[in-house]
Amino acid sequence: MTETRFTEIRLHNTKTRRRETFEPIDAKNVRMYVCGPTVYDRAHIGNARPAIVFDVLFRLLRQVYGAAHVTYVRNITDVDDKINARAAEQGRSIGEITEETTGWYLADMAALGNLAPTHTPRATDYIAQMISMIENLIAKGHAYTAEGHVLFAVDSYAEYGALSGRSVDDMIAGARVEVAPYKRNPMDFVMWKPSGEGLPGWDSPWGRGRPGWHIECSAMADELLGETFDIHGGGNDLMFPHHENEIAQSACAHPGSDFARVWMHNEMLLVEGKKMSKSLGNFFTVRDLLDQGVPGVVIRLVFLSTHYGKPMDWTETKRDEAAGTLRRWATVLHQHGYGARMVAALKASGEWVPDAEFLGVLANDLNTPGALARLHVLAKGHTPQALIGLAQGLEQLGLIEDWDSLRDLAGVAPADASYPAWVEPVVERLLADRQAARTARDWAEADRLRDVLNAAGVQVTDVGGTATWVPGPGFDVTVLESLQ
Ligand code: AMP
Ligand code: ZN
Repeated sequence: MTETRFTEIRLHNTKTRRRETFEPIDAKNVRMYVCGPTVYDRAHIGNARPAIVFDVLFRLLRQVYGAAHVTYVRNITDVDDKINARAAEQGRSIGEITEETTGWYLADMAALGNLAPTHTPRATDYIAQMISMIENLIAKGHAYTAEGHVLFAVDSYAEYGALSGRSVDDMIAGARVEVAPYKRNPMDFVMWKPSGEGLPGWDSPWGRGRPGWHIECSAMADELLGETFDIHGGGNDLMFPHHENEIAQSACAHPGSDFARVWMHNEMLLVEGKKMSKSLGNFFTVRDLLDQGVPGVVIRLVFLSTHYGKPMDWTETKRDEAAGTLRRWATVLHQHGYGARMVAALKASGEWVPDAEFLGVLANDLNTPGALARLHVLAKGHTPQALIGLAQGLEQLGLIEDWDSLRDLAGVAPADASYPAWVEPVVERLLADRQAARTARDWAEADRLRDVLNAAGVQVTDVGGTATWVPGPGFDVTVLESLQ
């Protein structure tokens, strides 16, 4: 991968309400935590938004700092009352539901072009770490036990509410806080609660019970990324109370640590201008779209066309436009000989460099609509450099993973792609002979071989001393038959 350390990344930090230059704590290990799904049902398309947004950031960080120098954690919440309710309703075990749903989630997110995060921790594998963090908070006077529960005392943390910029009184007024007789302050939140018969539970110093939601993320981030790390992300619906509570727990457990330095929040997704909901009948899952034949990359391109900080509207018009755009870009590249071979050759020769303007725009707080606008310009360029910029940009944004699929994206009829197995070695031999003739300065022979290839409709592109080929429009294997 090309080193592009000169690229300055700027990110909007919810904590400071400003767009700041990103300075990693350790450029050799840039660390990011993103709140993942609660696994009791198929991911709806809204759930795909944070997965895509933070995958774009993950890819950008990998490009700038090197793929080996970025750690991305996205958790799986596999203990939650919604999961218990779903299991009871379906008469199935909790483990079966969470296993199945986790599998669906990972497959659906991969189908949308998202890389697997470095770690995908399941909350239930970190119960010991949660218990020890809760014990630490009790010892430090930030938590108390009451009726088998352990609660975090928000009055013990002066900065509670700083992320969302609200006072505790505002929060009480604005939120649906669960009033319970055992709470000292109505804002105090549960870190541990008792589990009765038939509910998942673990032995703890406070009896058999299960963790609250917020402590999961604090404990997993601590274990996998350390007390202080670079970026924490999630949907803006999680800012309060979930993220405020994560901060309170982690900051109090580790006084003097920053927990996450940069907080990033994606805005919500709407469907045809309305909030997605089951009652409005506009509720659908990622799988529904994939099953209707909408390619994952088309869904992804729709998401990228809106900045993550703005509400995004999913519409069928946008879906169709995105499909058209991808087809056009793929066609331009295909017509210029792009495919797996060509990209491999470009990478090997060191010519696979991002377009500086594209990367600069993307690095400015993940301006994906701006980055896409730049790709539109590059697609009209037709110079080798513009085409490399377009191709690299598509890969950078996760819009193409497998260059062999370019033909399909371009909508090129598979008919001209199918040719007998003997064709490939023959063409490869002609190319090698042509190269040898050139090296020997035997121009007549080199031209003769080029004419044979032309007559067969083989489209040749020379990149960095390597020739790559694709069957061109008038591809005709009969011309090559005698050369077998
Ligand atoms: P949940 O499983 O509800 O905890 O949500 C998992 C992730 O999806 C969280 O980061 C949420 O913020 C995000 N999310 C849920 N609904 C939407 C939506 N309509 N638009 C964008 N993100 C959403
Ligand atoms: Zn979380």
